[in-house]
Amino acid sequence: MTTMLGVSLHGRQVVLVGGGNVAGRRIRRFIDEGAIVRVVAPELGAHLAATVREHGLEWRERAVRESDIADAWLVHTATGVSSVDQAVADWCDARRIFCVNTSDGAHGSARLTAETRSGDVVVGVASDAGVDPRRAGRLRDAIADALRAGRLPLRRRRHAVGRVDLVGGGPGAADLMTVRGRRLLAEADVVVIDRLGPTDVVHELDPEVEVIDVGKQPSHHPVPQHEINALLVDRARAGKRVVRLKGGDPFVYGRGGEEVAACLAAGIPVEVVPGLTSVVSVPQAAGIPVTHRGVAAGLHVANGQGEVSAATKASLADPATTTVVLMGVAALPKLVAAALEAGAPADRPLAIVERGHTPEQRTTWTSLGQAVTDAAAAGVSNPAVIVVGEVARAGLLLGPQGATDAAAVPVHAGAGVTRSASRAGDAAR
Ligand code: SAH
Repeated sequence: MTTMLGVSLHGRQVVLVGGGNVAGRRIRRFIDEGAIVRVVAPELGAHLAATVREHGLEWRERAVRESDIADAWLVHTATGVSSVDQAVADWCDARRIFCVNTSDGAHGSARLTAETRSGDVVVGVASDAGVDPRRAGRLRDAIADALRAGRLPLRRRRHAVGRVDLVGGGPGAADLMTVRGRRLLAEADVVVIDRLGPTDVVHELDPEVEVIDVGKQPSHHPVPQHEINALLVDRARAGKRVVRLKGGDPFVYGRGGEEVAACLAAGIPVEVVPGLTSVVSVPQAAGIPVTHRGVAAGLHVANGQGEVSAATKASLADPATTTVVLMGVAALPKLVAAALEAGAPADRPLAIVERGHTPEQRTTWTSLGQAVTDAAAAGVSNPAVIVVGEVARAGLLLGPQGATDAAAVPVHAGAGVTRSASRAGDAAR
């Protein structure tokens, strides 16, 4: 039988007897925890020798003696000779020191668990009957997967101090979020969302989690930024763990910087988890490589709201630069006019990718000259990314043969999933 204990080895003497691979692998766990580690072995394997050197550990370069273990809290014996391991285990028993005996894992006084960590949580797998490290390892891996996917309730009841995590959710598909983002979401007490990003993930949250939608709804206006900032600070001050879930990346037209500054000004711990920005991932979903070699040398990103800047005009006019415009659907006529006025040819390709990486993804393939007409005909709406430049030519990746018959070939496949697509631009050409 086994009782699983969480023991703290920090600052405590741990003795590893034996210098082979097993000790070499396991020593890390003790070092990472801050134990005072002594190795007793006539010789060390290469890996263990390097670890001993790197961490300046004590190494008694000889066969083990009873005095080596006298001051230990825990002993790990892996000499490869079961009679020696048994002698060490017997000394330990006589002195009431717990001993992991690798030649007799099932009957030693202590055994190591197959372990996985997620944030501050440690999960260990042990078995009452015998030792089957592979089975324990497989179980541990399955639990680790579930933890990473955010499927387990990592949320804590109480926190001494609250905090805010700005999590980039990517363009919309839940499995395009980062592992770190999913974990923080699973740990959160409060989740603040808006329209964009993988908002579906909130349906999987514990019902006790407070979900606040600050996005613009047809019926009401969005919550002003200063109120969002105040909300984040307020909940964190109440000791809550707050996740501010954002579409794409928090620092790309996401006002994440303002939220970080507000938290810092209020003395609230705040961290940012990056996300896949729609700048790159939404064109990609339509098969557009924004810096395709030999086609585009650079990338310019612009916000469609406001005036078209000199830099954006220059980019639109440059045949070797891809221009990506966010929040640009309403601004399309203004952008097109600015581009043509700056000297860009009317046949320069322009693609509009709506709701990229979602089941409703749709791409309109057109050109500067036709874009306004085609977008109106297709009823293009937000959220959408506008790509201007040679990389936005339909069938770019299909080669000369594909290019002549581009309309017949689906170029909208992303991540192995075929998505709905409009060929409005191609039809017009
Ligand atoms: N922080 C976000 C951008 C926020 S601004 C990011 O890094 O992606 C909002 C704009 O992003 C939208 O108007 C649209 O232009 C773009 N966008 C975000 N998600 C999108 C998606 N799934 N499909 C198309 N455009 C998207």
